[in-house]
Amino acid sequence: MKSEDKLAQFSKLIDQSSNIVFFTGAGISTESGIPDFRSPGTGIWNKISPIEFQDFVRSEEIRKESWKRKFHGKTNLSAADPNVGHKAISHLILRAKARSVITQNIDNLHQKSGVPDDKVIELHGNAGYAKCLSCDTRYELDKLQTQFEELGQVNPCGKCGGIIKTATISFGQAMPSDAMDRAQRETIACDLFVVVGSSLVVYPAAGFPELATHMGIPLVIVNREATPLDHIASLVIHEEIGPTLGFVVGINEPSPNRST
Ligand code: NAD
Repeated sequence: MKSEDKLAQFSKLIDQSSNIVFFTGAGISTESGIPDFRSPGTGIWNKISPIEFQDFVRSEEIRKESWKRKFHGKTNLSAADPNVGHKAISHLILRAKARSVITQNIDNLHQKSGVPDDKVIELHGNAGYAKCLSCDTRYELDKLQTQFEELGQVNPCGKCGGIIKTATISFGQAMPSDAMDRAQRETIACDLFVVVGSSLVVYPAAGFPELATHMGIPLVIVNREATPLDHIASLVIHEEIGPTLGFVVGINEPSPNRST
C-alpha cells in the first residue's frame, strides 16, 4: 500500500474511534533530541552497556558509575521539549478522543506536552526524580547532584538507610504493579491501540499490543523500522513519527514520502 493510502487509513481509524490508547517508546522522543536505545548507529546501547538492577544494589562502585552517567552524561532529559508526536497525542487526549498513553519512556515529555498525570501510565518509571528502594521516599535530583559532586557518592536514605536510585525501572528490576494493572485495564477498554516508536522487543511492555489484538482491537504501529509484531497489526506505517502523527491529527503538513 502506498504511503498516502496508509495515512488515509490511519486518519479513518482515528475518526471512527473514541477511546484510543497510545503506547509509546523511545522513538517518539528522538525528534526531541533524546537518543533511543536500539536505532542502528545512534541508539544508546550502541555506545554504553546498561547497568543491571542487581549490580546497582550489590556494588557501591557501580552505583557511583550510575550516578556519574546520570549527572555527567550527554543526555539531559530535563532540557528536552515535547515534539509534534507528543503534541498530537496530547491533542487527542485533551479532546477525549484518546483515553490515555502507556509509555515505556522515562523522559516526562507526555506530561510536559499537556497530558494530565493521571492519563500517563509509566511502565518504566520517570528519570526526573529519585526514590529510596526500601521506603519509597522521593528525592529531588538537584540535591542529590550537589551531594554527589561534594562527596563523590549519593548517601543512603535519610529516613530508613535504604539505597536511593532514580525512579526508573532498570533491567532486572520488578515492574511497577500499579502501572501494569492500569495499562492492562486501559488496553482492554480501548477501541484502537496505537504503538508509536517502539522496537517492541522489551517484555512485558510489548505484551500490551499483543493483548489488544487478542481482544479483537485494531492495532496500528508507527515505527521507522519493522517490529516483531508487524504481522499482527491492522496497519503498519514505517515512517517518521512527527510528520505522520502531525498529519493524521491535523496539526502539521505531511512530509513522509517513502512507500513501504
Ligand atoms: P527502542 O530504542 O528499542 O526502539 C525505538 C524504535 O523507535 C526503533 O525501532 C526506531 O526505529 C524507532 N524510531 C526512532 N526514532 C524514530 C522516529 N523519529 N520515527 C519513527 N521511528 C523512530 O525503544 P523502546 O521500544 O522504547 O524500548 C527501549 C527502552 O528504552 C524502554 O524501556 C524505555 O524505558 C527506554 N528508553 C527511554 C527513553 C526515553 O525516555 N526517551 C530513551 C531511551 C530508552
